[in-house]
Amino acid sequence: MIEGEAEIGIRDQAPRIDLQGRIAGLKEAFLAAKELSLTDLSLRIREVGFRCQECGECCRGEDNSVVVFPQEIRFIQMATGQEWLAVAGPPEEGEWDREGCFHTLEWRLLKEKESCRFYRDGRCSIYPSRPILCCTYPFYLDEGRLMHSECRGLGGRIEAEEADELAGQLLKRYQIEIQEAIHLLEKYRDFERGEAKEGGACIVHDSEGEHRISR
Ligand code: SF4
Repeated sequence: MIEGEAEIGIRDQAPRIDLQGRIAGLKEAFLAAKELSLTDLSLRIREVGFRCQECGECCRGEDNSVVVFPQEIRFIQMATGQEWLAVAGPPEEGEWDREGCFHTLEWRLLKEKESCRFYRDGRCSIYPSRPILCCTYPFYLDEGRLMHSECRGLGGRIEAEEADELAGQLLKRYQIEIQEAIHLLEKYRDFERGEAKEGGACIVHDSEGEHRISR
C-alpha cells in the first residue's frame, strides 16, 4: 500500500519554501474539504466499484508504506501495549542539518521484511485500530477528487451503505490529513542543511512538533 503521499503537497518537498503561503493554501483546502458532498463521493465510489478480495497485497510488498499520525500511533499503542517505536518509525527520505542530524516528516507503520509488521497469518492483527489510510484503501482524495491505488478489488460490487460508509471515512481522512499538515507546518522549525554524518539523531517533524530519536 502506498498512497496519499502528495495529496496535501507537503511530503514531496521541503516545507521551508513559503511556509505561510502553504499554510494559507492548506486552510483554504480545509474549508473546501468541508464542502465536499458525501452523497456525490459515495456515488462516485459505486461507479468505480470495490469489493475487498482479502488478498492482503495492500499490507505486503516493497511498496507498502502506511503514513500514521501521532493520535493513530497512540491508539495502536493502547490496543497492543507496545512502545511508540515498536509501532512506527521515520521514513527514509529526509535531509541532514549542519550538526549531522537527519530530519524527516511524519511517521510510517513499521515493517518486518516487506510486510506491515501487523500483518499476521494472512490478516491484520490490529484491524479495529488500524490507521484510517488502511480503512479507506485503495481510495484517497486528491484536491477533492476521488483517486485510487492499484487493487484487485476495484470494479467489484459495493452496496450503497458500504459506499456511504467509505465516503464518510474518506472525507474524515482528507480533513485529518489537511489538519495534520497545517499543524506540522505551524510547528516546523527550519534548519541549515549539512552533510550526512554517522551517529547523529533523527528528528521527525509532525503535527506535534519535533521528536528526536537516537539512530
Ligand atoms: S495496519 Fe493492518 S490493514 Fe494496515 S497495512 Fe498493516 S496489516 Fe494491513
